[in-house]
Amino acid sequence: MGTYRQTVVDLDACAQEAAAQGGRVSRWLEAEGFIRPVPWRGGVVHLAGPRWRDAVDLAPWDRRARIEESEEEPCGEVEVVVERTIFFSGLCPEPAAICPNCRSAEPAWPGEAVDAWTATGAADLGCAACAHRAPLAQWGWTDDSLAFAHLGFEFDDWPPLHPDFTAALGRTLGHRTRVFERKI
Ligand SMILES: [Zn+2]
Repeated sequence: MGTYRQTVVDLDACAQEAAAQGGRVSRWLEAEGFIRPVPWRGGVVHLAGPRWRDAVDLAPWDRRARIEESEEEPCGEVEVVVERTIFFSGLCPEPAAICPNCRSAEPAWPGEAVDAWTATGAADLGCAACAHRAPLAQWGWTDDSLAFAHLGFEFDDWPPLHPDFTAALGRTLGHRTRVFERKI
């Protein structure tokens, strides 16, 4: 079966602010009742809170009937990822980088820049079409399928997150966000 993971990624948080930002918004999720803390092996994990239904779109969820009858909640964890991460969706196996200046797609995988970003958190990529250079994190990707970022909120095996919820989460972050989904 695998895990169905949806990740709301903060596209703008820098490495220095990611931890504080992640903690603040995690507390907001808890205060709003979307998640609840549960002791686990000497630490704490976060599971669905009393208002989890308000965060999701239940209509396409194929277990809807069973959930409504039995009050079954999503069983997966909500985890805050605070580290340099290449977030990606399963939508596009070979995404092309898209120049933030001229919008032309660069089909070759920019391995050198990606390696540099992974090692240091900073890398520039130059556009073959217009010669513009920009930080890797500012480049677009086919189908919005990649992001180079420092903060994400992972929802494992939750029904599809409702756009109103992800918008509210984005407003609380005060940054641009993007939602990724994939099977892991
Ligand atoms: Zn360009």
